[in-house]
Amino acid sequence: EAALRYAKAHRRGAGEDYSHGYQRALLDNVSIISDLRNALENNELFLMLQPKVEVQSGNLIGYEALVRWQHPQKGLIPPGDFMPQVEKSGLYYEFDLYIARAYCDIRRQYPALTLPVSINISANSLQYGSFVTELAAVFEQAGIAFDEVELEVTESVLIQSDEAISHLKKLHQLGFVICLDDFGVGFSSLSYLLNLPVQIIKVDRAFVASLDQSPDAVAVLNCVLRLGDELGKRIIVEGVETEAQLDLLAALGVRYVQGYYYYRPLAIEAALSLCGC
Ligand code: C2E
Ligand code: MG
Ligand code: MG
Ligand code: MG
Repeated sequence: EAALRYAKAHRRGAGEDYSHGYQRALLDNVSIISDLRNALENNELFLMLQPKVEVQSGNLIGYEALVRWQHPQKGLIPPGDFMPQVEKSGLYYEFDLYIARAYCDIRRQYPALTLPVSINISANSLQYGSFVTELAAVFEQAGIAFDEVELEVTESVLIQSDEAISHLKKLHQLGFVICLDDFGVGFSSLSYLLNLPVQIIKVDRAFVASLDQSPDAVAVLNCVLRLGDELGKRIIVEGVETEAQLDLLAALGVRYVQGYYYYRPLAIEAALSLCGC
């Protein structure tokens, strides 16, 4: 099955006209992909936790689990430098299950943890009905109720396919809380929102970053916030870095944020000590 996914992921490249750097890029890709396979086997991937905060009280409302790779030779690698290869190689499916198990380990180690922790899953994985079954099995075996788990799925064309939507609905029916990540920057029509079983919308940090660059940016963000509100979704704004941004967001009625202004992604122990775990 993994081989099939790999073939599928690479089919499109077959007829392309390769540029000069292709040979080199291919070698890099091959080595990073075999390194990634090793990483999954040798436990070189670990999670950090970034707190989510209620603006009015400053209270923690939960965490997002973010993967890091401790590469034996290259050192610490952020997900931006290897997630594209995870997606391209077809490894996303095994990868997402690995992250789900890593999340279960945290819950096992910190039984007093009651705040929700979200994990990111690849929109690619949602193409497969077996992913729903296998993901559910991971939590079932760990004795974790599905409604204690938040799944972040990045807004993309991928999740607009009929299959992906029906699998997302299945996850939702099972009780998982679904968050639409990086909302507002994908190439998607707004009407697809009507079909998606999401409870939480995470507004992409690009909206926050653009706030001090143009007054129109405020209008656009305000519109996104109101759309989420009208649809009855909980909204979390990502990427809040400064007090000025926070003040503006608060004035726009934003209730929940995530960003460096409050906390960066933290080592698990440091993150969970914030809520007394
Ligand atoms: P994301 O899910 O949108 O996660 C938020 C990213 O924004 C994280 O980057 C976080 O560290 C960063 N961030 C948080 N607050 C701020 C801020 O105030 N300013 C700025 N500039 N950045 C902020 P990170 O950890 O490098 O992750 C990047 C992306 O990689 C994630 O975006 C997610 O799409 C993907 N990713 C991370 N962990 C996982 C995982 O376990 N599984 C999967 N499938 N994807 C993951
Ligand atoms: Mg996320
Ligand atoms: Mg994401
Ligand atoms: Mg995001």
